[in-house]
Amino acid sequence: MPASCKTILASRVSASFRDQIKQDIKERNIRPKLVGFLANEDPAASKYAEWTAKTCAETGVEFELRKVDKNDLEEKITEANEDKSINGIMIYYPVYGGKQDLYLQSCVSTLKDVEGLCHKFVYNVYHNIRYVDDNETMKCIIPCTPLAIVKILEYIGVYNSVLPYGNRLYGRTITVVNRSEIVGRPLAALLANDGAKVFSVDVNGIQVFTRGTGIKLSAHKVEDVDLSVEEVVSQSDVVITGVPTPKYKLPTAYLKDGVIAINFSSFANFEDDVKTRASIFVPSVGKVTVAMLERNLLRLHDYQNNLTEK
Ligand code: NAD
Repeated sequence: MPASCKTILASRVSASFRDQIKQDIKERNIRPKLVGFLANEDPAASKYAEWTAKTCAETGVEFELRKVDKNDLEEKITEANEDKSINGIMIYYPVYGGKQDLYLQSCVSTLKDVEGLCHKFVYNVYHNIRYVDDNETMKCIIPCTPLAIVKILEYIGVYNSVLPYGNRLYGRTITVVNRSEIVGRPLAALLANDGAKVFSVDVNGIQVFTRGTGIKLSAHKVEDVDLSVEEVVSQSDVVITGVPTPKYKLPTAYLKDGVIAINFSSFANFEDDVKTRASIFVPSVGKVTVAMLERNLLRLHDYQNNLTEK
């Protein structure tokens, strides 16, 4: 491995968030409760549930895993929405896969949606609406994996803190290989809303997300582009991959020298020699995702308490 490439592990980025959450919970003497619904036999979902349980135990969050039949899930979500002892709800996807899972995402109460996947929160990401209320006291919940990747980019220094908040990616070109509604599309929107030029690659083609020349637009616009993967990747300062298959490998030869390469797929999407081109390589993001889940839970816990006080 060449010494010029630094590997950044998700555990390193998540550590400071985890410590902060743990301290906050201890100092305020609170015990936020998260309920996770598992309605599939997917080993990746069980692994994610295990991680969630372990991290919650370490930080002082009460976590309850409820294994349910998928046909009872909607009713169980409704019960949890109404249960005042529960502060956050998450579902391990896929349940049915496809559109029925989108429906389930919107069954979770906005005030308990730790994953940030209900229509309102995703809409707010796409429209660069950062607060839930007009007085700007309640920040929107952002989907966990896109938020985890933003936090990793902040940690690495891709966000330029000299620039004003909201514009800190101005001048950066980023490629995201994945345009799912859970990760890739909201991630491309978040990064473009923060000022980046984002190429969004999926099986159907390539789009560019930007706030226009001089980042004059208040939210990003999307345009189809007639460029190849090689053409967009070779001009990108950061390349983020999330292709859910072991066969997919992004050729190292496409990468710009000194690129920041981040993989969030459960499979290795970069070739083994990625470190010969990358200045920074992040092989996975899962631990930061769980930290963001807890961060969102704390935020919702506070919103719920403020609302009941009014
Ligand atoms: P998905 O199947 O919904 O989406 C896959 C995306 O990849 C689609 O946009 C598809 O068009 C694109 N794609 C597939 N093959 C491609 C190719 N050859 N070239 C370009 N694009 C291609 O999956 P998802 O829910 O977005 O999950 C993707 C991966 O990310 C999975 O491996 C999943 O386990 C992982 N994931 C990780 C986390 C985490 O926190 N670590 C969270 C969510 C998902």
